[in-house]
Amino acid sequence: MDRRTALKHSALIALLGIIDVKKLFAAPVNSSEIRSFHKFNLGKLELKVVTDGHILMKPVQPNFAPGISSAVVEKTLDANFASKSEVDLSINILVVQSGSRTILIDTGCGANFGQDSGWLIENLVHAGIKPSEVTDIVISHAHPDHIGGLTDKDGQITFPNAKVHMSRIEHDFWMNGSPDFSKSKLTDEALKKMVVTIARKNITALKPQLNLLEDGAEILDCIRIKLAPGHTPGHCVVQVFSGQESLYHVADLVHSQVLVFKHPEWGFEGDTDFDLALKSRRKVLNELAMSRALVFSYHLPWPGLGHVRKQGQGFEWIQQPAALPD
Ligand SMILES: [Zn+2]
Repeated sequence: MDRRTALKHSALIALLGIIDVKKLFAAPVNSSEIRSFHKFNLGKLELKVVTDGHILMKPVQPNFAPGISSAVVEKTLDANFASKSEVDLSINILVVQSGSRTILIDTGCGANFGQDSGWLIENLVHAGIKPSEVTDIVISHAHPDHIGGLTDKDGQITFPNAKVHMSRIEHDFWMNGSPDFSKSKLTDEALKKMVVTIARKNITALKPQLNLLEDGAEILDCIRIKLAPGHTPGHCVVQVFSGQESLYHVADLVHSQVLVFKHPEWGFEGDTDFDLALKSRRKVLNELAMSRALVFSYHLPWPGLGHVRKQGQGFEWIQQPAALPD
C-alpha cells in the first residue's frame, strides 16, 4: 500500500469513528522506523535484531557442496523450492540490552562490500541505539562480514566506547604469522588475501578495546562463548542467557536453511578447515535438536530466529514466525 492509499484508508476508518482523525494526521508514522528492527525478550533481557543488509552468494556451487554432483544438489534445492542459481544470505545482527549494557554480537560488513550491506549503524539508530551507547561487542569470528563494521571507510572506530570480546584462538590465528588455509576448499587467493587484510585492520584498530576470551568464558552475566571450530579456528557459538532461558547464536555454523541442514556433510567452501567444520556443524546441530533450544542465525532469513529438528540423516530449520517486525 502506498502512502496516499494508506492515508485514504486511514481517513475512511477515521470517518467511521474508529480512530481520532486529529491524532492520525498530527503524528505521521515513519514506516522505516517501525520496520527496521525486531524486538523480543529472553528472561530479563531485551533483545533486538537489526539488519546489516544481505549477501547474494552465487553460484550455489562450489560455494556450497563443493565436489558434490550438481544433479544431486539441484534435486535437493528443487525439492525444497529453493533457487538453483543463488543463496541469499541475511546479515542479522543481535543486540542484547542487559541493564545498562548494550551488547552487539558481530558488526556486519561495514564499508567492505558495497551498497547491499553496511546498514547496521543506520538501523541501530532507527532502533533507538546510538553507536556511542554500545558498551560491548562479541565477535563470533573475524571474517569481514562479522568484524568489518568495527571501523568505517576511513578506518575510524565505529563504536568508540565498546569493549570488544573475542576468542583468543581466533585473534591469534589472524594476527600471529600467516593464517593457514591448507585445509580449506577455497581456491580464490585474492579473496583469502582480502579476508586476512580486513581481519588484521580491524583487530589492530580495536587493540586497546580488546578482551580475549578462552573457550567456555562467561561475560556480562548473560553471555557464554563455546568454540565450534572449522569455519575458522576460533569460530564460536554465543549463548545468551537469562535465568533458565537461553538462545544460541550460531554465527557461521550454517549459511543455508536447505543444503547445510539437509546434508551437513556437503559442507561450505569458505570453511577454513573443511572437515573440522563438518564435525562441528553436525555436533552443534545435533545438540540444538536434542535440547529444542531457541536458535539465532546470522545468515538465515530475517529475523534469524528458529529451531533445529532432526530429519533423517540430516536436520531441518524451523523458522520462528514473526508476524510483525517488533
Ligand atoms: Zn558470515
